[in-house]
Amino acid sequence: MSATYRDALRAALLYLVLSVVWLQFSGYLLNSFFDSSDELLRWQLINGYAWVVLSAGLIFLARARLFRCLGIGARLRERNEDRERLRQAAAVFDCTREGVLVTNSKGLIVHVNRAFMAITGYQSEEVLGQQPSLFKSGHHPPGFYQAMFATLDSTGEWSGEIWNRRKSGEIYPQWQTIRLIHDDQGQLSHYVAVFSDISAIKDSEHELTHLAHHDPLTDLPNRLLFTDRVEQALASAQIHKRGCALLMIDLDHFKMINDSLGHNVGDQMLKAVAERLQGMFGPGITLARLGGDEFAVLAESCPQLVQAAALAQRIIDGLKEPFLINGHQLFINASIGISLFPGDALSAEQLLRNADSALFKAKSAGRDDYALYTEELTAHAQQRVEIAFELRRALEQHELRVYYQPVHDMKTSRLIGVEALVRWEHPQRGLVSPAEFIPIAERTGLISDIDNWVMQQACEQMCRWKRAGVELSFIAVNVSSRLFARRELYQRVAQVLRETGLDPAYLELEVTESAVMEDPEVALEQMHRLRELGVRLAIDDFGTGYSSLLRLKRLPVQKLKIDQGFVAGLPCDEDDGAIVRVIIALAQSMGMQVHAEGIEQREQAAFLLEHDCDLGQGYWFGRPVPAQALDWARAPAIG
Ligand code: C2E
Ligand code: MG
Ligand code: MG
Repeated sequence: MSATYRDALRAALLYLVLSVVWLQFSGYLLNSFFDSSDELLRWQLINGYAWVVLSAGLIFLARARLFRCLGIGARLRERNEDRERLRQAAAVFDCTREGVLVTNSKGLIVHVNRAFMAITGYQSEEVLGQQPSLFKSGHHPPGFYQAMFATLDSTGEWSGEIWNRRKSGEIYPQWQTIRLIHDDQGQLSHYVAVFSDISAIKDSEHELTHLAHHDPLTDLPNRLLFTDRVEQALASAQIHKRGCALLMIDLDHFKMINDSLGHNVGDQMLKAVAERLQGMFGPGITLARLGGDEFAVLAESCPQLVQAAALAQRIIDGLKEPFLINGHQLFINASIGISLFPGDALSAEQLLRNADSALFKAKSAGRDDYALYTEELTAHAQQRVEIAFELRRALEQHELRVYYQPVHDMKTSRLIGVEALVRWEHPQRGLVSPAEFIPIAERTGLISDIDNWVMQQACEQMCRWKRAGVELSFIAVNVSSRLFARRELYQRVAQVLRETGLDPAYLELEVTESAVMEDPEVALEQMHRLRELGVRLAIDDFGTGYSSLLRLKRLPVQKLKIDQGFVAGLPCDEDDGAIVRVIIALAQSMGMQVHAEGIEQREQAAFLLEHDCDLGQGYWFGRPVPAQALDWARAPAIG
């Protein structure tokens, strides 16, 4: 054997041995790759360690082996990415807030995650190998689960709300998605359920529904829920041939509590009223707060009017006991309107509307009492709607007129002023009284246009009289309570004075006592502003508005007009006589003029003159008439 041949043989042997060693070595390495921990594998890849191995192969291996090694390297990398994905999935599986439960094809639990344990309260070892029926709440009928599996079978997936039971026994709602998993052969291998605990959402939903249906201050049902309850009660009453009663309650002069003691006390008062009312009723009676100081009561079994009336009286009497709020002893009265099913109304809406009309009647009749709904009230309500509609047209078509009623000096009996009073010359109904349409105009907002128009007409008329040489001390114009507190009143008065050129000292604005007392602070401010313009101020219908004397003293007012209700009883009614005397004394002590209205008889005028009343107005002196019909010379002898 030549040396060259021996060398070639030795080289071939060495190649063989090294190939075997390499194969062993690469196999070992690959094994170690596959068996090594994930971190080690990544570390090796980042540092290119595997490539070092492959370059070793480069030296020793033939081209074919190089490709094999590269192939192995690529597979190794692919597998590495799979592992990365699996690792990420495992992290998601463990960290997700959704509970995950995996069962095998037989429905036995094989895996649960941490969130599952947190939500259900079970540890994994307690549930592995068990069936998910362990969590059944009994909340769903069997048909529910049948439908769920039918959907799973047909679509491979089911999502929905399901109520399950925690380990503690508590039943809770969860939103769950179940999916079928198949193996490579297409055989069902697992069920995966992913769910979230939606009890918090349900709670807040419940809370929102509660808020939408309850008054936040008293927690009583609000108008929405109450109307719903009335509807249900009527449906049930119809079936069981029962009668129901609806009582609408309004607290009298509640605004005064708010104004004088603040809204905090007002709120506490409303809560206390709600509690007291609630305490009076048993089952079958629903109390609601409809808003402001308005409450409503539904009596589901109230066959007769007498029972409803007795309930109303019980409420009125029950509220009479004083309330102790923040150290204040407070008293409150209530007015109540009653409407009955089926006698007065057949629907919830109608029943509510009729009770409201009856309440209006109770309030107009002097408050602190209840009123029953009657057919007559419906006619009135309908008429009110018609008037509101027609009044708009009346303004546009110039159907309104201003009448003037004379005001006489009691001592000289001379006509010294007039009050402007609006009239509506209705094309069909003739002359309509303001008592009929002013309250409607106030409700619909038309009052602003009406009062502005009357003021403009009155001022223009006064200018005409002045130019004609008529001696008049003042022209009085009524200002609605709705406008009195508004800033625009001042602007409007200033504008009318500017436009007509009337000396402001001739214009007297009449504001009712109740309008002043509705918001005394605002009234005070408004009055001072109006006084700055130079106009005179009078309080109309005095004696009906629960004035506080202290407040009255602060008002920049020149005149008190005694309400005609007190004049009517003169001179015989002792109470009326006493009240009139007190008002006159009061006005004089505060340096105000006193003016009596509604004088229909000479005796009334004589009584007033005797007690030093300054001015008088009434049919006995002269009725309201158009401007040209005023009798300037008339001076009836009082004494
Ligand atoms: P008021 O301001 O107290 O006006 C006095 C009312 O008593 C007038 O009723 C007048 O016609 C009536 N009256 C006068 N003397 C007598 C009498 O001797 N006996 C009786 N029984 N009544 C007498 P009228 O004109 O029907 O007005 C009623 C109310 O309507 C007024 O009461 C006033 O509050 C309101 N009003 C009238 N015109 C206007 C207006 O232009 N604007 C506003 N906002 N309200 C007005
Ligand atoms: Mg008046
Ligand atoms: Mg009056």
